[in-house]
Amino acid sequence: MTNEVGRTDTNGLVRAFRDAFGREPEGVWSAPGRVNLIGEHTDYNHGLCLPMAIPRRTHVIASAREDRVVRLVSRQLPGERTVALDRLLDGDRGGWAAYAVGVLWALEQAGHRVGGLDVLVDGRVPLGAGLSSSAALECAVALAAVDLFALRGFDGDEGRRALARVCVRAENEVAGAPTGGMDQTASLLARPDTVLLLDFDGDHAPRHVPFDLDAHDLSVLVLNTRAQHSLDDGRYGNRREECARAVDELGVASLRDVGPAQLDEALRRLSDDLLRRRVRHVVTEVDRVTRTVEALQLDDLAALSGLFEESHASLRDDFEVSCAELDLAVETARAAGALAARMTGGGFGGSAIAVIRTVDTDVISAAVEQAFADRGFREPECFPVTATGAASRER
Ligand code: ADP
Ligand code: MG
Repeated sequence: MTNEVGRTDTNGLVRAFRDAFGREPEGVWSAPGRVNLIGEHTDYNHGLCLPMAIPRRTHVIASAREDRVVRLVSRQLPGERTVALDRLLDGDRGGWAAYAVGVLWALEQAGHRVGGLDVLVDGRVPLGAGLSSSAALECAVALAAVDLFALRGFDGDEGRRALARVCVRAENEVAGAPTGGMDQTASLLARPDTVLLLDFDGDHAPRHVPFDLDAHDLSVLVLNTRAQHSLDDGRYGNRREECARAVDELGVASLRDVGPAQLDEALRRLSDDLLRRRVRHVVTEVDRVTRTVEALQLDDLAALSGLFEESHASLRDDFEVSCAELDLAVETARAAGALAARMTGGGFGGSAIAVIRTVDTDVISAAVEQAFADRGFREPECFPVTATGAASRER
C-alpha cells in the first residue's frame, strides 16, 4: 500500500526550475486529481455526476516570457518541449505539452491575450490512471496563466466555471481527447470534505454536498489497477457516438431528457440492442447519482453499497467499459470488507474506488494486491484519500 499522499517540496521545484530554464520562477500553482463517486459517462449526456478532489496534485512552476514560445519540462516524462503558440494547430502539438499549451490557445480563443511561458510540471496524480492527471495539468496551467497575464473574469465560482470550460476546450480541441467537463470542474471548484454535484443539463452551478469521511472514520480507497487506459484511443469516443446515435433515434435533445419513468418506452423505440444497453446505463446512472446524494445525506451506507454495485454492473454489462482488472479490484475489495466499491472514471483500465472503514485500509489493500498477484496482473497501487480543496496558487 502507498500511504504517501504526494507532498510536494516546492523549494525543490523552484531549484529544478532554475536548473531547467536558468531564471527565476514567478510562482507555483497546483491543481488536484479527482475520483468520481458515481455518475460515469453522464457528463456528455447532459447528466449528473459526483466527483471529489483528492490530495494527489499536479504542481506547475512558471514564468512568463517576452515572446510567444512555450517551453515545458515535466518531472514525469523525459525531454524538454518547445511549442510556438502561433503554430500550435499546424503540426506537432508536443505530445503531453498539448494539455498545457492548449490551455493558452483556448484562453486566446475566449478573447484573452496571453504570451509565452517557461513551465516546469511535477504531477503526483498518476498518469492515465483514471484520476484525471490531464485536468490537473490543465487547471494548474490555467491558474498560472490567469495570474501571470493578469486575466480578468476568472474569480469566484462563476469565474472558475468559465476557466473549466477553457480547459475542456484545450483537452477536446488541442489534446484531442473528447472528454466531457467533469474533471476540470472538479479540479477547479472542489471544496474539502464535500463532493460536487454537477449537473450538465444547461448552465447550473455545482452543489457542494457534505462528505466528511474523517468524521465517520471512513476513507475512499483508490485502487489504481495500472491497466492500460487511454481516452484518446477511440473507445471513449465510440461511446459518445453511440449515445449521439441514440439521441437521434429518440428525437430528444440529450439522454438526460429520458427520465427513469420513460426508460422502457425509449428502449422499445431504439433500433438495436447495443443502443438499448448504452441508454439504459446512462438513464439509470443519472438516477443513481440522485439517490447517492440522498444516501449521503442520510448516512445510509447500505444504500450507498447497493448503488455502487448497480453502477459497476451497469458499466460492466451495459456500457461495456470495465475490464478484468477493474472487476477483480471491485470484487476483492467488497469480499475483504469494503462498504461499497465500483470502477471510477472513463474505464478501459484505470482505477476503482472503495468506501472503507479507515482501519481496514491495510487489510483491503493487501487483499487486492494478493488477488492481482494470483491472477498475474500488474501490481496495483492502493491508497486512501479524503475530499480535498480545489486548484490554488501555492506561492
Ligand atoms: P488521466 O487524466 O486519467 O490521468 P489521460 O489520458 O486523460 O489520463 O491524461 C494523461 C495524459 O496527460 C498523459 O499521458 C500526459 O500526456 C498528460 N499529463 C498528465 N500529467 C502530466 C505530467 N505530470 N507531466 C506530463 N504530462 C502529463
Ligand atoms: Mg484525463
